[in-house]
Amino acid sequence: MIGLLKTRSFRFWIGLYAVLALLPIAVSAIAGFVLLNQSVIVPFENVAEQQRYHAGPTQQLSILMKDTLAPVDEFASGANPTGPLTYRRLREQIEAEFAILEPHFHIETGARDLLQRAREDWIAADRSATELISLSPSAMEKDAGRLMRQFHGHIAAASDKLSAVYRLISVAISADHDKAVLYYERSIWIMGIAGAASFITTLSGIFLVGRIMTRSVNRLVDGAERFAQGERDYRIEIQVPPELRRVAEEFNRMIGRIKMSETALADLAVRDSLTRLLNRRAFENALTETFDRVQRLGETTALLALDIDHFKSINDTYGHAAGDVVLQEIGVVLGKNLRSFDRPFRVGGEEFSVLLPGTTIATARETAERLRKAIENHQFRYGTDRIDVTVSLGVATTNTEMDRTSLVEAADSALYEAKLNGRNRVEVSIGAGRKGDKVA
Ligand code: GH3
Ligand code: MG
Ligand code: MG
Repeated sequence: MIGLLKTRSFRFWIGLYAVLALLPIAVSAIAGFVLLNQSVIVPFENVAEQQRYHAGPTQQLSILMKDTLAPVDEFASGANPTGPLTYRRLREQIEAEFAILEPHFHIETGARDLLQRAREDWIAADRSATELISLSPSAMEKDAGRLMRQFHGHIAAASDKLSAVYRLISVAISADHDKAVLYYERSIWIMGIAGAASFITTLSGIFLVGRIMTRSVNRLVDGAERFAQGERDYRIEIQVPPELRRVAEEFNRMIGRIKMSETALADLAVRDSLTRLLNRRAFENALTETFDRVQRLGETTALLALDIDHFKSINDTYGHAAGDVVLQEIGVVLGKNLRSFDRPFRVGGEEFSVLLPGTTIATARETAERLRKAIENHQFRYGTDRIDVTVSLGVATTNTEMDRTSLVEAADSALYEAKLNGRNRVEVSIGAGRKGDKVA
């Protein structure tokens, strides 16, 4: 799942959520259509059909049959001579209704049998009525009563059966109607639930996507702010979505590159381009740090001031380029003869300083002497020329009354002493040891 989260694009998740949100609606639309069609519309059509082809004609038949009684009765009693005419018209209508009803009558066998029997009753009634209306006036008196009773009996029997058929049809109609209403309600429920599911899916999608996006975007903004405030080691961590992860990765790479170029620039600013030693600016900073430590930890630091002897004449004799080579070589010799935490600086043209942290005056003097000898013994070459190079050194150490200026002055005046006393030698500052303490 996590792997899927990390690899799938934001567009993929939006698409997936859209599908998830729309799926319930689509399913409910299809289900609702099928349900409405099969279980609502069909039963309603049944209701309409039964009403039209069963219930209506059945009721109509019942009424028509009852209507046949009066003209036949009136004719028999001599009150209505046109009774037979009316009767025949009614009979035609009754036959027509049976004709409508019978081909459509497929409700159930019970009702169909009843209708069949009602028809038989009607045929019997019709037989009695036809016989009655065609009696001669003489026979009328004798047979009219019997035939009338038979006619009434058959019509009553047919009516009863038709009523029973009608009741059966009504039951079927209301069953279909109930079914239609039930499925209609169900389809409404299904659509309601689908709507709610879509709504919830959409909301949860918006919430989740919003949360992931907000968290990732906040991290980006936070990282950018930290970067703007100068933090260079902070890296933005974003896993999802992959689009923003790529932005974060690119941002992190950019910070890394900026840090590298800043470091390189900062290094350039504190290094001397000829000797690659730290320059005067770095020396000033280092002095500040040194006095900070002296004050906080009471640590003793020694300072060596080193100046090349008669460097001008080296330039004059061998050329400025040769002088440059000598300066570079001196940088190399200093580096080789110092401990890793001692720091050499090129503080002027042919002047160097060395800071020796945690060093006593005795050790500092030994170090200065080691450097002097190393340079004296080093073979400086320029082309075919061998150049003899010596240096003079002044040594001073910090004490509680000193500030950075007086330390530098102390080392410088010791160096001046060394020059005065013949060069190629080490002198220790008055404050730090005996004045004019000659080593070489
Ligand atoms: P001293 O023994 O008293 O120190 O004599 P010096 O000749 O070494 O001292 P001075 O101050 O008279 O001369 C220093 C020379 O160093 C002068 C200048 O031309 C030379 N110089 C300064 N910077 C450079 C540099 O970067 N390259 C070269 N080749 N020469 C430099
Ligand atoms: Mg000088
Ligand atoms: Mg010099």
